[in-house]
Amino acid sequence: MKKIIIVSNRLPVELKIENDKITFKQSVGGLTTGLSSVHPKDHNLWVGWLGIPEQEIPGSSLKDDLMDEVIRKDYIPIFLTEEEIDSYYYGYSNDIIWPLFHYFPEYAKFNSYYWSGYKKVNEKFAREILNYTDENDTVWVHDYHLMLLPAMLKTQQSHLNIGFFLHIPFPTYEVFRMLPSRVEILKGLLGTNLIGFHTSEYQQYFIESVSRLLPCEIHGNEIIYEGHKTVVEVFPMGIDADEFENEAHLQKEQEIKPQSIKAEIKEYTKHSPQVRFIISIDRLDYSKGIVNRLEAFDYFLENNPHYKEQVKLLMLAVPSRTCVPQYQLLKKDIDELVGRINSKHATVRWTPILYLFRSLPFEDLISLYTCSDVALITPVRDGMNLVAKEYVMSRSDQDGVLILSEMAGASKELKEAFIINPMNYREISNALLQALEMPKEDQAKRIKIMQDTIRNNNVKKWATNFLTQLEGIPSNNLQQESALKNRKSIIEHYEKAEKRLILLDYDGTLVGFQDNPEMLAPDKELTKLIRTLAGNSKNDLYLISGRKKENLEAWFADLPIGLIAEHGSFIRQSNKDWKSEFYGKSHWKKKIQKLLESYTEKIPDSFIEEKTHVLAWHYRKVPGEIGVRGAREIVQMLRTRTMDLGIQVLNGNKVIEVTAASINKGNAVRNLMRQKDYDFILAIGDDTTDEFMFRQLPSQAISIKVGTAESAAKYRLKDFKQVRFFLYALSEKETIVKRIFDIGNENKKQII
Ligand code: UDP
Repeated sequence: MKKIIIVSNRLPVELKIENDKITFKQSVGGLTTGLSSVHPKDHNLWVGWLGIPEQEIPGSSLKDDLMDEVIRKDYIPIFLTEEEIDSYYYGYSNDIIWPLFHYFPEYAKFNSYYWSGYKKVNEKFAREILNYTDENDTVWVHDYHLMLLPAMLKTQQSHLNIGFFLHIPFPTYEVFRMLPSRVEILKGLLGTNLIGFHTSEYQQYFIESVSRLLPCEIHGNEIIYEGHKTVVEVFPMGIDADEFENEAHLQKEQEIKPQSIKAEIKEYTKHSPQVRFIISIDRLDYSKGIVNRLEAFDYFLENNPHYKEQVKLLMLAVPSRTCVPQYQLLKKDIDELVGRINSKHATVRWTPILYLFRSLPFEDLISLYTCSDVALITPVRDGMNLVAKEYVMSRSDQDGVLILSEMAGASKELKEAFIINPMNYREISNALLQALEMPKEDQAKRIKIMQDTIRNNNVKKWATNFLTQLEGIPSNNLQQESALKNRKSIIEHYEKAEKRLILLDYDGTLVGFQDNPEMLAPDKELTKLIRTLAGNSKNDLYLISGRKKENLEAWFADLPIGLIAEHGSFIRQSNKDWKSEFYGKSHWKKKIQKLLESYTEKIPDSFIEEKTHVLAWHYRKVPGEIGVRGAREIVQMLRTRTMDLGIQVLNGNKVIEVTAASINKGNAVRNLMRQKDYDFILAIGDDTTDEFMFRQLPSQAISIKVGTAESAAKYRLKDFKQVRFFLYALSEKETIVKRIFDIGNENKKQII
């Protein structure tokens, strides 16, 4: 039975060792809830560190007890030594990746000791996990501590279905490139079949970094690297919406518990009933923008003195990484700032900030959410920010206002919040003023929409969506074998056949790519090769291309072959005239031309090529990412805005082509196959347009994809040189072939 293995840095358990006894408590949190339908269940496993150094677990019998207890619950513990925790966890993860990915490169302490610890612990995880995996199991790896793990697992067991979710932001290329081990990290992540990020920005930044740092193919959100495909998707993580909603309802009806936060707040409001609360809740971390928030609040009080004694900032800062000097310094700054602001604005009856440095139990947290008129959440960078969602879901009376930083992933979903730039204290102060003065009906409108958004994408749905998509991706997704490796059987089939149909794409298949496609006229060797193949009376050979008919005719009219132009719009049998295969009108062209022109204006060196039934936007001369981004935008725009025009969009090699929906190489090939009762059909192509052709072929046909992109073809060849070699092998003796072509050492190794 296939199982799911969840992997995270920490297991969701809390261990306590007292008097040589171990107590073991299940910890609760977003991830545990989200995955509750997966674990514990059906022998699924969860692998992670126990949170304490191995050295602190006294005696081997205690360790055995611990193992028994943990394994009984389907947890697999990873034991880490103090040195490993120091280099892998505190070092590389929290002192390099955390600051860098949150745009604090000045805090990153790059060093090789951390890096080697990180590699070692990722290997330790891999070794342990592989003890438990069977072929075709699913492994879902979580977060930045384990970015090398996917490739380590994949190289050992290629049939594993591996997913990865990053819970923090993925930074822009300009920031990511600073990481000394950037290439290794990307290679590690590309061992996955599916990578998930909270937002489409992180997704795009990741794809851009990969495109700049690794030789790979990128098709939309799919990356093909070293013959393996990784899908990069967006899965904004949610919360357990019901839990927050229910607890808030319950607290409204229940009696207030003595000594609870709610009781204290009630007591306070008895004496100061006019005071309205603004809450802020976060871990005390430099990414949370606590200092910015305090400064903005100071500015607000200074500029709105009538709000003195009328509002109170209830600031909960949860201790985090307290032994790290960076965090100790931040704590000192915040303590001082709170003191300064309080002393500056306080009156005898009132202090502006109530500052709690501790963590609170769940019930108290909900009390804070429910007692406050405004939530002020201002991280300077935050992967998601769950507190924002929790606040909204706890507002059971549908009132309250959320002020949320645009740097938090949650701002992409919670659009009805006041979205602010956390660096702009005037903007924060204005938002505060507007929030405090917002009529209840407006508050309700905004809160209701956000509650629906959060309910519709709760954490369980998030986990299910990820796993469903992961399990839908074949684990060994680019498995076609080389056509060269199989050439003996293909040649045997070819030699036995009497009626052969050979379909060859041109650009990228018989010739390589160049910036100037006019230069890609067939060379002498290619002409000779085509002539040899076509000269065999048993062969019907067609060049099937996206090029204009004039272009193909100028180059190939003299050869005894058929020509198919504009992806199947026109056909010319050997020595005959061109015939149109498409009788519809291209009335869509005007509208599309306009849209494409708006891009040629914006993106220098891109240009439009007009063919009879095709409009093409070329970006091969546009440097780097600009062209790729433009192409992505065009495709998206065409797909969403022109659905009624009966057109299709072909995403080719540095070109976007638009044709009538009924034109494609598949239809052209279907007509050709009706001509004769062919007993050998060979089709070779490199582009997405060739996929239409592959999909039309009968099962016994030989279809070959050139390159590494995903394909419906049966076999693969690496490049046009291998194609030529393969075609010569069909028609000539191989020993001659080896002498004719400079096929490169790498290719020779594969062939001989
Ligand atoms: N939280 C908590 N106890 C507290 C304060 C906060 O358990 O005293 C929880 C809070 O409910 C939220 C999480 O800590 O679920 C913080 O998540 P968020 O995404 O906002 O920030 P992170 O700490 O993950 O960067």
